[in-house]
Amino acid sequence: MYDHGPNFALWLALACWAGIVGGVLLGYFFAMSDHHCHALGCKNPCPPAHLMCRSCWWKVPGQLRNEVNRTVGMRGETVDASWAPWWRAQARAISHVAFLKSPIVAKRDAYLARELAFADTLESR
Ligand SMILES: [Zn+2]
Repeated sequence: MYDHGPNFALWLALACWAGIVGGVLLGYFFAMSDHHCHALGCKNPCPPAHLMCRSCWWKVPGQLRNEVNRTVGMRGETVDASWAPWWRAQARAISHVAFLKSPIVAKRDAYLARELAFADTLESR
């Protein structure tokens, strides 16, 4: 007589595993679709931990990418002075990519001036 017991337990374990993995993947997918690339005019989804989608990120010069990565962990729980170095770095990265798409010096400088001024106000918090 064939015993269905162990098979059923195995099936159940596999179903649970598939449910957990599926849930994690779905959660990741929705988190991805909730968060978009911060490059101006780019609507590509990207993981929440990333500033930009892959294609925009690789347009940022290496030194600036390093600066964004170096300063991102310095940010505190609340948006205060601890955020200023990262704010400056991400603003430079975003303006760099925007300038490649539309090389208008005045537009880039206005954007940078506004963002760097905001970093200064963060610093005074
Ligand atoms: Zn992008």
